[in-house]
Amino acid sequence: MSAQFVVGILTPAISFSFALVFYVFWHKRPDLHYVKQFAISYLLVGLSFAQTSIIPASHIAVSLPLSAGFGLLSILVSCNAFLFRHNIKKTDKLLTLFWVLGTVGAFIAGGIYENATYVAIIGGTAASLLFFTLGYKLQRLKPKSLVDEYVPKVLFGTASAIFIQNAYIIFKNPVVDLNTFMDSTIWITLNMIIIMQCCAVAVAVAMIAVTDSMTIASDQAMIDELSGLQRRERFEESTLEAIDKARRGGVPVSLIICDLDHFKSINDTYGHLAGDEVIKKIGHIMQATARSTDILGRIGGEEFALLLWNADANGANLVAHQLRSALSQADLFEFIEDTKCTASFGVSQWNGKDTYRDLFALSDKALYLAKHSGRDCVKVAQAKTEIAA
Ligand code: GH3
Ligand code: MG
Ligand code: MG
Repeated sequence: MSAQFVVGILTPAISFSFALVFYVFWHKRPDLHYVKQFAISYLLVGLSFAQTSIIPASHIAVSLPLSAGFGLLSILVSCNAFLFRHNIKKTDKLLTLFWVLGTVGAFIAGGIYENATYVAIIGGTAASLLFFTLGYKLQRLKPKSLVDEYVPKVLFGTASAIFIQNAYIIFKNPVVDLNTFMDSTIWITLNMIIIMQCCAVAVAVAMIAVTDSMTIASDQAMIDELSGLQRRERFEESTLEAIDKARRGGVPVSLIICDLDHFKSINDTYGHLAGDEVIKKIGHIMQATARSTDILGRIGGEEFALLLWNADANGANLVAHQLRSALSQADLFEFIEDTKCTASFGVSQWNGKDTYRDLFALSDKALYLAKHSGRDCVKVAQAKTEIAA
């Protein structure tokens, strides 16, 4: 296998293939923006090596530094894609600095000193620093999935491989003429290492993208389409976690349960679709009223729940009254004037010891009382046996 073959075909072919795979993946899951960034990154790696075959060998003083510049840019784009996935959208200054230094250094070494070995060493050092820095930054971020433990290791491994490659070049101490560089063992070694790096990072990216899309799919399955609120199962899971957190932090939490009044008659009078429209609107009203730390769920056909974080019974009572009046004043059907739908509310504060079941039973008892007090009202359970208006 000749050096020209590796450079001309293998490295760009593998890089372009990964670029295509990531592009197709992103096309299917456009919400995963970072996958598109990886597609661009792999496109740049491909271009970085393809251009060395396209630009005549007589211009290697330009094409070699250009290859380093493109290659380093592709790593910078990858680094930003990894960070973007963690919602860090600003281009990282330190990483950009490494890219600038590596690219300028490569152009000085190639264009002015005409030294291919220096280009390889400078490019390699900058690439290594980029991967090390990114690995370090990612390690300090909260993992999003199990794969996140694997990613920094891949990056440290990749950075180490480049260091070894640099050591090999320095150890061999070859004074390679620019014109024969493309036929040198350094060029082949460099390419083989880059192919391995591309594959290792691509496997990590593919694992991340697949895991993320599975997480999104399972999250979507846990959201009720009509109301946009969590389904009962997810609501209970989230509430159990919140109660656990509240226990450790000594934070007060309260639970509101809401049941629409005479909803059957709304369905009977205006039809099931009109009933669905009401459920949709209730979802909007609840989302507009709750804070980001609260948990909202549709726990039954026309039953809803709201776990209020850092709220005692008085606070929860106020929120329930807000919801009640927002609902009773809302224009539920644009096409049927003056049609109102009311709801009854049961509220209780978690006492710091009870289980979720106990808390639910308490709010449910208050709701039962609200129903039996004429509906369209809020009742607060003060204690397990005592319920007050
Ligand atoms: P109450 O004031 O005692 O709660 O009376 P209600 O009519 O609201 O209670 P009931 O349990 O008798 O009826 C609940 C109704 O809610 C019956 C059911 O058809 C309706 N419902 C449940 N889920 C949906 C849904 O997704 N869409 C629509 N349109 N109606 C639903
Ligand atoms: Mg009901
Ligand atoms: Mg009802």
